Amino acid sequence: MRVARAGGYACRVLTFDEYQQRVLASARPLPAERRPVAEVANLLGLVTAEPVHSSVSLPGFTNSAMDGYAVWSADLRGATPDTPVVLPVAGDIPAGDTRSLELAPGSCWRIMTGAPLPTGADAVVQVELTDGGLEEVRLREAVPAGTALRHRGEDVQPGDEVLPAGTRLQPRHVPVLLSSGVGEISVFPRPRVAIVSTGDELVAPGEPAGHGQVVDSNGPMLGALARECGFDVAAVCRSGDSPEALLATVQELTGAADLIVTSGGVSAGAFEPVKLAFTGSDDFEFVQVAMQPGKPQGFGTVSGTPVFALPGNPVSSLVSFLLLVAPAARVLAGRDPEVPTVEAAVAEHWTSPPGRQQFARVVFDEDGRMVRPIGGQGSHVLGGLAGSQALAIVPAGTTEVAVGETLRVIPLDGLA
Ligand code: AMP
Ligand code: MG
Repeated sequence: MRVARAGGYACRVLTFDEYQQRVLASARPLPAERRPVAEVANLLGLVTAEPVHSSVSLPGFTNSAMDGYAVWSADLRGATPDTPVVLPVAGDIPAGDTRSLELAPGSCWRIMTGAPLPTGADAVVQVELTDGGLEEVRLREAVPAGTALRHRGEDVQPGDEVLPAGTRLQPRHVPVLLSSGVGEISVFPRPRVAIVSTGDELVAPGEPAGHGQVVDSNGPMLGALARECGFDVAAVCRSGDSPEALLATVQELTGAADLIVTSGGVSAGAFEPVKLAFTGSDDFEFVQVAMQPGKPQGFGTVSGTPVFALPGNPVSSLVSFLLLVAPAARVLAGRDPEVPTVEAAVAEHWTSPPGRQQFARVVFDEDGRMVRPIGGQGSHVLGGLAGSQALAIVPAGTTEVAVGETLRVIPLDGLA
């Protein structure tokens, strides 16, 4: 760690990994809450805080795996296409039939897939091996006991663990969750993220930007990123360049958010409201991180709520959110903080600043295995940001990114 002097502030310089570890060090999952499984559509993406155990057997009753005829297999001994066994049909058992039925020896029931097996039957003959008769049926093949049956409890027994703790609920978990007789499950709530854009130059989205003004694009972008990463957005608001106003806004948001993100106002200029509001607080620090973009960063807590103070350039804000805020918010949600990456080879040379880990905007070649840089790498270049498909991670020691080199890249589509 080095100490640098920037704009009159003594600032520590940390490597990207040091800083990321620092902001993750105190992150813990939010207190778990119990939620009814009937609300499963709202639970997708949440992580189970405790294992889920079934209170029932699955299947709940022995049933037919085929459309066909429920039989006593011994009645079919010797059946062949030339010497079919003919049995009277006692009636139909459709799926959803709740009657308790019995099979008399020497007879059969026509039965549908998923319908309960009548007592006494030990096999189902699929309809394709019969003439499909309704009053009586010709069965052309002998079948062993157990054929085409789904036995009660063969899938899940009462007390079985059907989902371990730490499962991030996906559509594939829904059937067993809803079928296992459980009313409520314990999950980590979705972190509520609040976003505050700073800057007297900002105008509301949709308003024309006059001379010296810019549209607040960070707020809506960070809100969209938060949502895409699976978090709730508690607020997206603007504060000017007054440190007092910013402090009041942040303090108010601690009541509604689990994590607060500010953008702008952390660098070396004369009017840096975030820096002015929190410098001197024991619970806050401003550092320089050896990364590009995103060098000036601040992190701390206000009334126990973590606050990330991100630099204001839109590209820096986006990179800082994905690499620092999102991993911390994932920990609050009980998820793995890891930023998902893939490997790609460099298709075109570019340069990276000495001593800084670069997150370069790149596009994939058609097969998705090679990347090339796009647009200017300045952190204000909005067009290049929009055109990019991924961030390529260039290690701090590399200044020339050579063709053919393999890099880890963070795809920007499908962040959830
Ligand atoms: P700052 O970090 O406050 O010095 O801002 C750095 C640059 O990012 C300046 O050009 C700001 O105008 C711009 N900027 C800051 N906040 C936003 C925002 N919310 N939306 C768009 N641009 C911003
Ligand atoms: Mg500013």
